[in-house]
Amino acid sequence: MDCIFCAIEAEQAPCHQVYADDHAVAFMDINPSVPGHVLVIPRRHSPDLFALREEELGTFMTAVHRVARKVRTALDADGLNLFQSNGTAAWQSVFHLHVHVLPRRHGDMIRIPPHIEPGDPEELAQLAASIRAVT
Ligand code: AMP
Ligand code: ZN
Repeated sequence: MDCIFCAIEAEQAPCHQVYADDHAVAFMDINPSVPGHVLVIPRRHSPDLFALREEELGTFMTAVHRVARKVRTALDADGLNLFQSNGTAAWQSVFHLHVHVLPRRHGDMIRIPPHIEPGDPEELAQLAASIRAVT
């Protein structure tokens, strides 16, 4: 099997599973960014968000929501991030759609570079118009 997450889904590769339903599986990330870092995947192989069918979104997000609640409660988290990457330019390294569930603590070590520049209003308006125009 080429895809490690398909192998995990099929129980042909090991994982620490934390949740499973008919459409999705969740398991511990083997390189946790924080304690309690969990990945949620759809059972059907979809390389990225754009490969998931619209009719699959509801069941997948339901699973993400359930897992996020479980992680938040189990870790007694102060906060929680969902994180999801599409394409190497966006840091995707495993090409089976997954959502990272990251429980957060005040003062934990995850850092995003501070963004202190306000956007140019004209550029914001132009970008908004070009995004709206895509059907
Ligand atoms: P991304 O960079 O968003 O594609 O994230 C891929 C994630 O999958 C990384 O955080 C890896 O640590 C994680 N990962 C890769 N292989 C496994 C595996 N066999 N079991 C659990 N997590 C994995
Ligand atoms: Zn796969």
